[in-house]
Amino acid sequence: MEPTVRIPSATPSHVRVPPELEGLRRLAYNLYWTWHPKARGLFARISSAGWARSHSPMPILTGMVDWAGLLDNPDFMAEAYRVIGDFDRYMANGADHWFHRRHARELKGPIAYFCAEYGLHETLGIYSGGLGVLAGDHMKAASDMALPLVGVGLLYRNGYFRQTIDADGHQEHRYPDYDLSRLPITRALGREGDPLTVTVELPGRDVKVDVWLVQVGRVPVLLLDTDNPVNDPADRPITNILYVRGREMRLHQELILGVGGVRALRALGIDPAAWHLNEGHSAFLLAERARELVADGASLDDAFANVSRNSVFTIHTPVSAGNERFDTGLVRQIAGPLLDGDGRANTGGVPVERVLEIGRGADGDPNQFDMTAFSLRLTNGANGVSRLHAHTANGTWQGIAPHGILPITNGVHPPTWAGGPVRELFERYLDADLDDLDASTSATRWWERIDRIPATELWEAHVRQKRELAVFARGRLRTQFARHGEAPRTLQDLGEALDPKVLTIGFARRFATYKRAGMIFTDTGRLARLLSNADRPVQLVFAGKAHPADRPGQAVIQEIFGRTRSPEFRGKVFILEDYDMREARFLVAGVDVWLNNPRRPLEASGTSGMKAAMNGVVNLSVLDGWWDEGYTGDNGWAIGGREPLTDEPAQDWADAMDLYRILESETVPDFYDRDGGGVPGRWVERMRRSIATALWQFSTTRMLHEYTEQLYLPAAGIEVDRTVEAHPS
Ligand SMILES: *Cc1c(COP(=O)(O)O)cnc(C)c1O
Repeated sequence: MEPTVRIPSATPSHVRVPPELEGLRRLAYNLYWTWHPKARGLFARISSAGWARSHSPMPILTGMVDWAGLLDNPDFMAEAYRVIGDFDRYMANGADHWFHRRHARELKGPIAYFCAEYGLHETLGIYSGGLGVLAGDHMKAASDMALPLVGVGLLYRNGYFRQTIDADGHQEHRYPDYDLSRLPITRALGREGDPLTVTVELPGRDVKVDVWLVQVGRVPVLLLDTDNPVNDPADRPITNILYVRGREMRLHQELILGVGGVRALRALGIDPAAWHLNEGHSAFLLAERARELVADGASLDDAFANVSRNSVFTIHTPVSAGNERFDTGLVRQIAGPLLDGDGRANTGGVPVERVLEIGRGADGDPNQFDMTAFSLRLTNGANGVSRLHAHTANGTWQGIAPHGILPITNGVHPPTWAGGPVRELFERYLDADLDDLDASTSATRWWERIDRIPATELWEAHVRQKRELAVFARGRLRTQFARHGEAPRTLQDLGEALDPKVLTIGFARRFATYKRAGMIFTDTGRLARLLSNADRPVQLVFAGKAHPADRPGQAVIQEIFGRTRSPEFRGKVFILEDYDMREARFLVAGVDVWLNNPRRPLEASGTSGMKAAMNGVVNLSVLDGWWDEGYTGDNGWAIGGREPLTDEPAQDWADAMDLYRILESETVPDFYDRDGGGVPGRWVERMRRSIATALWQFSTTRMLHEYTEQLYLPAAGIEVDRTVEAHPS
């Protein structure tokens, strides 16, 4: 198996670059630039104003560029050839990669990875939060490791909503309308060289699905799109909105993803050796593959057994209520003809009643089709996304999963999330190659030698990242305050907001009530004293969206917004709008403390704390999700313990009191205890422990080793040789 799956695609004619700089087009149409600072720097040199406005190459290359000036600038040209050369070598060299040498040769086909959302970059708005960002980081790491993988998802032309908060604290929703010509996507070409379109039969009509390609380094991701003028106007918006609310529309979407995704791969001549369902949204791919086998003459039982053998599934929520379910009547009506074969496109078929039976949930309700139960029963292996979550999930799905649910803890992609100043230190003092953690051997696990970075330098790099956050946040706050009609004086004061000298605590994630964003306000008097201490002040920054249908989550936003405008907390508590990957990068790199206080064990993993830890930001968290296994005693703080109290209010109260205790007796004193040079010694020690304990352990590199050896290779029928060192390190 080649280290990369190559998918031909149309050369976009609206992007014009001089022939000498043709490489820029290759670079712009590959999200490689999102995790390679030098590539971003090159586009910023072409137009610094354009970059500052769009932070994406496409608007720059499609706008006005002084090409003659650049071609005459030897300095620029040398840098351009260096960056393009690095990129071309990256794309060509997969076969040398350790990972490829070790595993990929035995594979007969690539791994197909299906997910409803991909968080690859903020300018490609086809993600909402944690699930998507995890999938995006998975693609980038697979690229770095030369794992032959192809992603499948949907192209949401209106994406997920952009959030504003009105002057009364209500969350407002706006759906953008993306201009596809400014996105780094191209049309995939079919075997005849034409733009590829596949067909999915829905009751009474055929829906045409256009196939787009976004190239993520070496990894192609196919994005399916029903917004084609040949479709009925009622079908065009099927793929427009991520996590669309209407159940019927959602079911249509998931049929397109699962069934359309399989058909797109087939049309491209791709025969995956293993199929990975990241969450149950794509579960219809299992039914479609069974249908194919039946159409080829297999018995129904053999078809399902064959599909199960090479499919694997990742579950992401601890409680069964969080899983995708549909009324069986709806599935029967909408998916029935397609699966059964109604004589139009198919021969043979899979009776929908059988599909519904396989998808019966843990509660046995015969009127619900449960995508998680369906996926668990039809896969060869499954995993939860942290040790604690796998344990919880095994309890929830007991009797349904034919196999145990393995723990494969999430990770994050270090080059995407490490701030520039900290990354430079890793490279300068530790000779780190952030793009290839596999290249490190047991003798060169550079993150363990973190002590070689002088405390002063690590602290200064951190303070630089804090300043970058302050500048970014002031801009966002100014926009918000101006929209609310605040006075010019107030807007001017924002220039001083989020003083980098002040201990800064960040809390950013989806606003769901179990995450208890308001917990720190349990005793407002006590918190006000903590924040307003003149010698040792503290400030809080919040950010996050609540799902448009989640009213209680929106009420939490309103509560926090109210605090930011209250006399006691004004200027000390802030809420930033429109949490996205860009805002997340500034926050996880630029606060001092990353606060996380969900109600245990409801947070399956959480990944933002991992991003923070790699930057030396110290975690202060309930022992839930990843932190239950990530906390070592010296790399941050644990709120509460592992023994649950019987009732929720008592648990909430106890956790809040423990949070105050830690802040008052450890966090604040340690932060403000400075040596002669102004460096907080104990603090920097915790920063070092954070980096050292997270960088490998909570990286997507470690995660992909586990996916490959525990799920992908067994699904592909390849025995993993345990006598060979599993990890290079
Ligand atoms: C990392 C990330 C998330 C997920 O963070 P959690 O800690 O899992 O809640 C959500 N949204 C964005 C934009 C992210 O970057």
